[in-house]
Amino acid sequence: MGTAIVVGAGIGGVTAGVALQRCGWQVTVLERAAELGEVGAGISVWPSAVAVLEELGVKGVEKVSVRSKPAGMRRPDGRWVVGAADLGFELPVMIHRAQLHDLITAEFGPAVTVRTGYDVHAVRQTATDVTVNGELRADLLVAADGIRSAVRTALYPQYEGPRYSGFTAYRGIADLELDDGGGETWGRGQLFGFARLIDGRFYWYGTANQPAGTTSEPTVFESWHDPIPQLIKSTEKVLQNDICDLTLPLMPFRQGRIALLGDAAHAMTPNLGRGACAAIEDAGALRRHLSSGADLTTGLTAYDAERRPATTKLVKRSRSLGRLAQTENPVLCTVRDTLFAAGGKLAALRRRS
Ligand SMILES: Cc1cc2nc3c(=O)[nH]c(=O)nc-3n(C[C@H](O)[C@H](O)[C@H](O)COP(=O)(O)OP(=O)(O)OC[C@H]3O[C@@H](n4cnc5c(N)ncnc54)[C@H](O)[C@@H]3O)c2cc1C
Repeated sequence: MGTAIVVGAGIGGVTAGVALQRCGWQVTVLERAAELGEVGAGISVWPSAVAVLEELGVKGVEKVSVRSKPAGMRRPDGRWVVGAADLGFELPVMIHRAQLHDLITAEFGPAVTVRTGYDVHAVRQTATDVTVNGELRADLLVAADGIRSAVRTALYPQYEGPRYSGFTAYRGIADLELDDGGGETWGRGQLFGFARLIDGRFYWYGTANQPAGTTSEPTVFESWHDPIPQLIKSTEKVLQNDICDLTLPLMPFRQGRIALLGDAAHAMTPNLGRGACAAIEDAGALRRHLSSGADLTTGLTAYDAERRPATTKLVKRSRSLGRLAQTENPVLCTVRDTLFAAGGKLAALRRRS
């Protein structure tokens, strides 16, 4: 095929590395961090992304994942709003991020070279190639360098890029014994969710509205129903990230010989739990379009035509769900919970009839 550079070794970048290797490219993955890896948190992986990982030959996802038990949505006092079993939709599996990252990189063969501690600061392309930092040359560059992508900024300097959603997220892994199926609890302007990991520990996340750049603790959840306070107390390290997504409309995912992938192309709020899954699906699409026999321009144009509209919908839906989850208006919260409860009852009735 040719030579490809992937910028960034997050879940998107490493999956792109495997995908390109599978269709015959010589791949160099460049990662700014000193070591490969992922943060200490869980991740929900939806069936469509699991299917892409299987297509790419990533083995063992089922061995490190837990299929979510039907749980549902509660109020902060513990009363159930709706059970996921009532809604009857397909649930994602839950995996530790580092385990997922390891499974993907385990598929790197001799065609993939990884350079860590390498910061990409300059990208230049001509009709025949792409050069990184004035020294590394390739036929194709895949920018998987995250929401603050330096490559995207170089391609689209006028684009506004990341947009603060108004809320921050806390995440952690709690080491405790629990007999609870997990699920989400929605309050007024806050949300908390948790799920079991394969090693018996629990991944949890919580959100709260606050100005961008404020460092805070998840103290607001101390008065919420059990086992939420215990989960937080049993956590060694709490991560905090201000939640941003990308300004719409998204920029084209292809310019010349450069493709954008993952959060660099379509970062979304985590409300649907699909950002990394969408990055995995991007990599699957890239592989399909680049192995169709078409030339690079046609393949990358088809990649953009498939993935930009699909992920634009996800960015919009995630943003809307985030607004609904983070509303502080008591009337809206009551209407929201009533509608969810009614929706659950209706769906359950339909499934039984
Ligand atoms: C709280 C929270 C919960 C989430 N939960 C889920 C979930 O349950 N399910 C799900 O599917 N998604 C979830 N997401 C979204 C998911 O984390 C992201 O969509 C996904 O990690 C994006 O992967 P990526 O590889 O595109 O980017 P990133 O993970 O951001 O990776 C980018 C990589 O590029 C490197 N890099 C950056 N700049 C350079 C440079 N100039 N040179 C070299 N390297 C560079 C970085 O060091 C990094 O390693 C969640 C997000 C958050 C914040």
